[in-house]
Amino acid sequence: MKARRLPSLVGIFGYPIAHTRSPAMHNAAFRALKLNWYYLPFAVTPDGLADAVRAIRVLGLAGVNLTIPHKERVLPYLDGVSAEARLIGAVNTVVNRGERLIGHNTDGRGFLQALRAEWNESLRGQGVCLLGAGGAARAVAVALVRAGISRLFIANRGLERARAMSRLVHGRSVKVGAIPLSDGAVRHAAEECRYLVNSTAIGLHPSDPRLVSPEVVGCFPYVCDLIYQPAVTPLLRDAKSAGCHTMNGLGMLVYQGALSFELWTGRKAPIAVMMRAAKANPA
Ligand code: NAP
Repeated sequence: MKARRLPSLVGIFGYPIAHTRSPAMHNAAFRALKLNWYYLPFAVTPDGLADAVRAIRVLGLAGVNLTIPHKERVLPYLDGVSAEARLIGAVNTVVNRGERLIGHNTDGRGFLQALRAEWNESLRGQGVCLLGAGGAARAVAVALVRAGISRLFIANRGLERARAMSRLVHGRSVKVGAIPLSDGAVRHAAEECRYLVNSTAIGLHPSDPRLVSPEVVGCFPYVCDLIYQPAVTPLLRDAKSAGCHTMNGLGMLVYQGALSFELWTGRKAPIAVMMRAAKANPA
């Protein structure tokens, strides 16, 4: 009698995790390609991360995604890390290859693919002002530099963190500067930048303050927020009112997920299916 093949399992480790749209997005993609794969959310506390990573091998998961607060903490538990993830210092995708756990980071490339899909513009030679210097900002900055931008301003509340990030991503063909997260400094940056990108967590909650004034936001032709819930953050509302092109973080969520899907399955991800599922499953 022919043995039935077990399904392949993947999932996401995060805490909290109830809000995640990734299971809906990936399971829709598996169904669309008729793959016997399933994606599950796992609420993993920081104290439980080491055991959860061991469980990837024990249970034979094909891989996992990692989200807050695990992207940086997971590094010591892995057998290898891609050059990109090593540079960013964070992993959002783990692939289990013959019980060797290899970490990747698809956030930055996901951001770039979303931006190209939305605006169809080349970033080569462009200037970008990035608000924030956390994990997401590092992934985006590394991707932007690889895409050939010529100028990058990193505006962060903690200036030292912005300085550390500018040392990390500086290159021969890009001038990188750390600036305070203030109206004056960001307005000055706008003189050299077409793009404003928010990679801070400000905008997730209705009571969050404005990062910069509407007038300064309006100095940038293209404004993007990595946040996708709410779909229109105060920053994007100000940008829309000023007539800027706007983009939220949903496209980045979908494209980073598509890159993880391709790493695990070796199949081309059905982007339209994933986009529909992500849009249909708000938190
Ligand atoms: P993180 O590492 O904790 O970084 C948080 C950033 O927000 C830091 O730059 C921090 O500045 C800044 N910040 C926090 N509170 C602030 C305040 N009150 N005023 C000004 N700045 C403040 O977080 P992360 O992982 O980079 O995530 C950042 C955002 O990106 C989150 O909203 C997340 O949902 C989003 N994200 C989206 C996607 C997607 O697929 N669309 C993927 C990844 C992340 P300090 O350094 O001064 O503390």
